[in-house]
Amino acid sequence: MAVQTVATSSETTVDLGPAAALSCRECGHRVPLGPVFACEECFGPLEIAYDFSAYDTEELRRRIEAGPANIWRYAPLLPVPADVAGKPNLNPGWTELVKADNLARELGVTGGLYVKDDSGNPTHSFKDRVVAQALEAARAFGFTTLSCSSTGNLAGAVGAAAARAGFRSCVFIPHDLEQGKVVMAAVYGGELVGIEGNYDDVNRFCSELIGDPAGEGWGFVNVNLRPYYAEGSKTLAYEICEQLGWRLPDQIVVPIASGSQLTKIDKGLQELIRLGLVEDRPYKIFGAQAEGCSPVSTAFKAGHDVVRPQKPDTIAKSLAIGNPADGPYVLDVARRTGGAVEDVTDEQIVDAIKLLARTEGIFAETAGGVTVGVTRKLLEAGVLDPAKTTVVLNTGDGLKTLDAVAGTGVTATIRPTLDSFREAGLA
Ligand SMILES: *Cc1c(COP(=O)(O)O)cnc(C)c1O
Ligand SMILES: [Zn+2]
Repeated sequence: MAVQTVATSSETTVDLGPAAALSCRECGHRVPLGPVFACEECFGPLEIAYDFSAYDTEELRRRIEAGPANIWRYAPLLPVPADVAGKPNLNPGWTELVKADNLARELGVTGGLYVKDDSGNPTHSFKDRVVAQALEAARAFGFTTLSCSSTGNLAGAVGAAAARAGFRSCVFIPHDLEQGKVVMAAVYGGELVGIEGNYDDVNRFCSELIGDPAGEGWGFVNVNLRPYYAEGSKTLAYEICEQLGWRLPDQIVVPIASGSQLTKIDKGLQELIRLGLVEDRPYKIFGAQAEGCSPVSTAFKAGHDVVRPQKPDTIAKSLAIGNPADGPYVLDVARRTGGAVEDVTDEQIVDAIKLLARTEGIFAETAGGVTVGVTRKLLEAGVLDPAKTTVVLNTGDGLKTLDAVAGTGVTATIRPTLDSFREAGLA
């Protein structure tokens, strides 16, 4: 199938479960499901519109609870065919929601503090959730190559998913990524291309490739398959609520790169309320950025509706998107729910990584340092309420960003003798 950038009304119908159409976020214009991402009327972003009208709440709840221990337990709420669980894919999700009592004590949280630990996914970041959706869309549209522009984690998730599903993969990354992420992306055997530029340059290049015959037959998970890809983040909302006993948390702290994850967590919570799976009561969503790439928090604090692009300079490379596509929608969600968007310095990120590791035995990548650091900052500022149930996302594994904690090492080096052990003050 030819790759298009703008929707037309000549798409074939495909089986993507409850997904009914694509709908423009700005003007509501609807088009049939297809590998398109921009509205033909206003160039606004397209997202999935569903038909959930046939669902009975209790039957749906039973069906979900009887489902597999991965994201496919929520297949009735995702743009995937009903038999998705039987297809070759990485089966991500159902990661642990850790009750973080030690961290809570340290931060003074009394209302219950949880870490949703997405480092437990197959390629050790939350990206496996979104890639799994894009893969199903790629299958449905007849693509044979899976591709993406990536700040690192996505490259690995695409490479691994393509390997499992028997697709070719070719992914594009900024040339200066962390070594751990380069290896994690290359090892799956697909093509990995370093681009001389930052993530925003990589993204621009991919958009050009999509419009070119050289990109024909390619599914770019976060470009022409973006509407499908983005829905994967809803599963974080579903899992958090189900793991809390079908209850909404009061406060959620979410990292922001493009802002897609944060807006889709909100969409997922809204769906659970509408379907009657959780009680309808207020929740607040908080966004977290690194100070060295903080276009959304800067706009939030200034009271702006538009997000001014920045040139990223931070150790939190997985979040280093200077021109975030969903930035304005993040501002909407934070303001509508009564949340906020805040940022922390690289030093605070490192401190937060160590704090989480020391208190809960969870080694987070820099993005987890950003959310934990922002949680601490917002608690100190009285913006987060310590008496409320709070969920903090850790979206990746610290083994991918070892450089961030490079100063950490042995307590002492001793001779293999008891005397030496005692001399070192370790007895
Ligand atoms: C991609 C990514 C995010 C969030 O990405 P969005 O573009 O905002 O959806 C968060 N954490 C990690 C580790 C990531 O790789
Ligand atoms: Zn539109």
